[in-house]
Amino acid sequence: MAPTEPPLTLADLDVLPVTRLKGVGEKKAAGLASAEITSVLDLLTHYPRRYIDRTKEASIGSLEPGEEGMVLAEVVRVSSRRTRNRRTMVTVTVSDGTGRMGLTFFNQPWRERQLQPGMEAIVFGKMDLYNGSRQMTNPLVDLVGDQTGRIVPVYPQSEKAGLHSREMAAWVADALAKAAPRGFAEPLPQAVRDRFALIDRSSAFAGIHTPEDMAQVAMARRRLVFDELLRIQLLLVLRKRAIEASTQGVQHVPSRLLRDALLEQLPFALTSAQQLAIRDIEEDLAARAPMHRLLQGDVGSGKTLVAVASLLTAVEGGHQGALMAPTEVLAEQHYLGISALLSSFTVPDSTTLLGERELRVALLTNKTKAADRRRVVAELESGGIDIAIGTHALIQEGIAFKSLGMVVIDEQHRFGVDQRAALRDKGAGQAIPDVLVMTATPIPRTAAMTVYGDLDVSVLDELPPGRTPITTHWVQDEDQPDTEGVDVWARVRAEVAAGHQAYVVCPLIEESDKLEAASAEETFDRLRATELAEQRLGLLHGRLNPLEKEAVMTAFRLGELDVLIATTVIEVGVDVPNATVMAILDADRFGIAQLHQLRGRVGRGAAVSYCYLVGVGATPDGEERLKALVGTTDGFELAEIDLDLRGEGTIMSDRQKGRNDLKLASLRRDREWVEKARAVAFELVDQSPGLKEFPQLAAEIDLLLDDDEAEYLLRS
Ligand code: ADP
Ligand code: MG
Repeated sequence: MAPTEPPLTLADLDVLPVTRLKGVGEKKAAGLASAEITSVLDLLTHYPRRYIDRTKEASIGSLEPGEEGMVLAEVVRVSSRRTRNRRTMVTVTVSDGTGRMGLTFFNQPWRERQLQPGMEAIVFGKMDLYNGSRQMTNPLVDLVGDQTGRIVPVYPQSEKAGLHSREMAAWVADALAKAAPRGFAEPLPQAVRDRFALIDRSSAFAGIHTPEDMAQVAMARRRLVFDELLRIQLLLVLRKRAIEASTQGVQHVPSRLLRDALLEQLPFALTSAQQLAIRDIEEDLAARAPMHRLLQGDVGSGKTLVAVASLLTAVEGGHQGALMAPTEVLAEQHYLGISALLSSFTVPDSTTLLGERELRVALLTNKTKAADRRRVVAELESGGIDIAIGTHALIQEGIAFKSLGMVVIDEQHRFGVDQRAALRDKGAGQAIPDVLVMTATPIPRTAAMTVYGDLDVSVLDELPPGRTPITTHWVQDEDQPDTEGVDVWARVRAEVAAGHQAYVVCPLIEESDKLEAASAEETFDRLRATELAEQRLGLLHGRLNPLEKEAVMTAFRLGELDVLIATTVIEVGVDVPNATVMAILDADRFGIAQLHQLRGRVGRGAAVSYCYLVGVGATPDGEERLKALVGTTDGFELAEIDLDLRGEGTIMSDRQKGRNDLKLASLRRDREWVEKARAVAFELVDQSPGLKEFPQLAAEIDLLLDDDEAEYLLRS
């Protein structure tokens, strides 16, 4: 008896070139390579985009006018012409023996090449009568050739690479046939498969590519989605545990004296979300492992206060704290706010007569004058400064802390991972400081678990009471009255007359900040000459030098300007509670998250605030975005809508590395599976540190996820 070979692992499939398959010659291999398919593994994980269920097939003769249907027909004739408004119109006649039908394609000139007389095509669309003859307009078309089977997979095809769905199907079928004798190795413990009723991997690959019915597709998809999500969660959990095991953090001993003093002097009570976050953070601070936590909360949810309370916990124990902001303006704002908050605070100091001294907060940015800078740097090193606030200037060479115990990073999307690491290293030689990352960009929970899965997450999902919600109006143009009968400029004039201020956000021009600045200048000139001639206007855009920007911002903050006409430079952190109106021009050019951030600049005080979204809603998505903003001010709800409209690609973009293993899984559709996979990842890693008992899973992570990340984990 011949020795049987072991089942195939993904690594085995990865080293089998596609040229081993029937019908893949040099030319096809080159085409496949251009679609990044070189191995049998690549091919098997190139999943069908959809399926044609031929049990649902109709005939041309049986379709009623107005009815949707799918027919298999032969192409009889093809012609193409230009319409009066210069669009291409391709007309095709098809027949299936029960009747003839016309297909009309607008703006798809390539259909003339695609559809040749004699070809068999599956056509899906709504049949209508046009001058008495049957016709479908812009139907879906699949060239299935002579593929048999009741369910026909449709692969993403590429005209350019010369790849057709039916060829892909044939190659995949050949790969599956060749693999069948050995089968696919099973990496998942039986108990996990049982718990979630997951089919084995061999059945899953067969079910996704060559299903007998749609129920098989669903079972296969479920298994393969779980595999993808589990790999990512395993990677993240492994990393989390590795950091915890290999690093020594600062074990803070909270006395709660300073923190309680802070809370007592506040004129308001904490929201329960703030209380929970502060408690979570305190637990992390008291633990031995370094904290690595994300604090998510909408603009105005009170993140800064949570950060300050936490920094005080570090200071109580005799350590220093640092807060890093993405811009100088923000750093200064934080500095002013936090020093005022802590102005009467003292810390123990045995070298003084009274045994205590003032708590010291210092600012360090690139603008700090040389002499001040020298002094601050010296006092960071001697421990004379308790809380340092600054920009990335805080992590430059030559800056050392006596005992950095906690670091807060504000608005993390502007900070790279490397910068975070550099700041952590400022405690070099000593224990690693605890890190809290704050972001105002709400991320749906399951997406956060994937994108930031190596961090713990606290969420401020509740705004402090007493805020007057912002009224948002969507108007098609500047003259259109809102639902209260007031147009945007009349509203601006009225608010200014009442002593308030306004923002006008100019159209976004992504390709060029020069054009954007020019458009802002134009808007400024136009409004000054017309609608807002009586008001004091300021102009702010990215092309001004820092001094000019600063001057404009200061004037606006001091109330010397009524209306600030600006580009998106005001998106982050500008805080003028007296501003009560915002007009966003060409609002449909902005994304949901950006509109939400912009709108957060108003509604910061007790007065009623307004946001006008001016735009026609040119695309269906644009319209959905504007409606969403009108419908809610809840950032998490908006983030969910955004995810639905745009897909996960966007959220993943800045942490894209190693996240491209998601071929089938969708963070939207498969929300519940993200949570299940995360729970299993914790179980497996904690049961077998480093996944030693699950070598196949470890190998798959290594194979499929980003090299650097996997290496870091598995070798350390
Ligand atoms: P974020 O940083 O999340 O945008 P901030 O921390 O800047 O929010 O808080 C916004 C405003 O709300 C500040 O003026 C702050 O003093 C105030 N604030 C914070 N927490 C509360 C609370 N629990 N009740 C009332 N006001 C609060
Ligand atoms: Mg803030």
